[in-house]
Amino acid sequence: MKCVVLGAGGFIGRHLVKRLKAEGHTVIGIDRKKPEFEPSPADQFNIWDLRTLAPNTEFFRGVDEVFQLAADMGGAGYVFTGEHDAEIMHNSVAINLRVIEACKFMGVGRVFFSSSACVYQDISGLNRLEQTPIGINPIPMLSCQEDDAYPANPDSDYGWEKLFSERLYLANARNTRLKVRIGRYHNIFGPLGTWTGGREKFPAALCRKVAEAKHGTSIKLWGDGTQQRSFTYIDDAVEGTIRLMRSDVDVPLNIGSSRMVSIEETARMVIAMSQKWLDIEYEEGPTGVRGRNSDNTLILQKLGWEPRYALEAGLMNTYQWVRQQVIRDAGVSHPQLLTGVPPQM
Ligand code: NAD
Repeated sequence: MKCVVLGAGGFIGRHLVKRLKAEGHTVIGIDRKKPEFEPSPADQFNIWDLRTLAPNTEFFRGVDEVFQLAADMGGAGYVFTGEHDAEIMHNSVAINLRVIEACKFMGVGRVFFSSSACVYQDISGLNRLEQTPIGINPIPMLSCQEDDAYPANPDSDYGWEKLFSERLYLANARNTRLKVRIGRYHNIFGPLGTWTGGREKFPAALCRKVAEAKHGTSIKLWGDGTQQRSFTYIDDAVEGTIRLMRSDVDVPLNIGSSRMVSIEETARMVIAMSQKWLDIEYEEGPTGVRGRNSDNTLILQKLGWEPRYALEAGLMNTYQWVRQQVIRDAGVSHPQLLTGVPPQM
């Protein structure tokens, strides 16, 4: 098949291109930047701003599958502060409008849209439960069955954009001949992801902080450590994307791990992997919703599959990779970074 990956210079896009190439397809990558850490294995990589994609773009000629992963995107520090809301909404909607028009005009076989767990409702008002005088500290959990996205109340404008764009794709699927597949990713992590600079997500930021910290010191995390999440390893995200794209499922599906862990538990896992003694301090910062994991009832029913990569193994791969980046960036040999434990220990 001939496949196009939009956002091929990004984290998930780079991994998806590799997988599609391994399957023997012809792959065209498009992004406004090349992948940061390793060259793209795409047959052709085009630098292009997708907000200016023409309906009759040659990139889409004779294309069977378009994977739309391009978005204005980042971790909590980028998405939840509110400082980038206008850019996020404008840029991502502009991309999706252009992509849909071009898919229709050029008769693309089917298009995958990368949505997010951020479409689910914000019930942060329930945080008040934590202050109950009877000593109970319940974590208000978001229910993340696909239908629970409505009535809508995402916790960020990033989530609202994803929900609007889902509807844009679904409306076109209903009213035109466009075939649409929608995956809602839940916290995807792994090697080759952004790990510094402000757009990194929690697992990569955590690995960086641990890799940079000296044995016997501490790392700082946002919130109080009790926030809960499920983290999905990149190989599972790619597998779920391909399975969904090639299925006849025309409704949004969660692509995420259902295993819930707290931020503190996750931090302790990575600290143990580093073989350093490190304390954890908490500070104010943007944290997103209190608790959320992927409900996999529907994906199991529709595809007979759900993410299965062990969190510990995924974190180990990610930590090793981020540690190498930290060492390379430091430009000098730091014994405590190379061995985990400093020589005098
Ligand atoms: P990423 O930021 O690494 O990749 C997105 C890519 O889109 C970047 O390379 C960026 O340069 C490109 N892009 C942005 N604007 C563009 C434009 N105008 N023209 C061309 N390219 C442009 O993000 P990712 O983690 O790989 O995520 C891929 C998709 O999955 C995004 O749509 C994201 O919202 C969604 N998603 C990701 C996660 C996650 O945990 N990584 C979770 C939920 C949803």
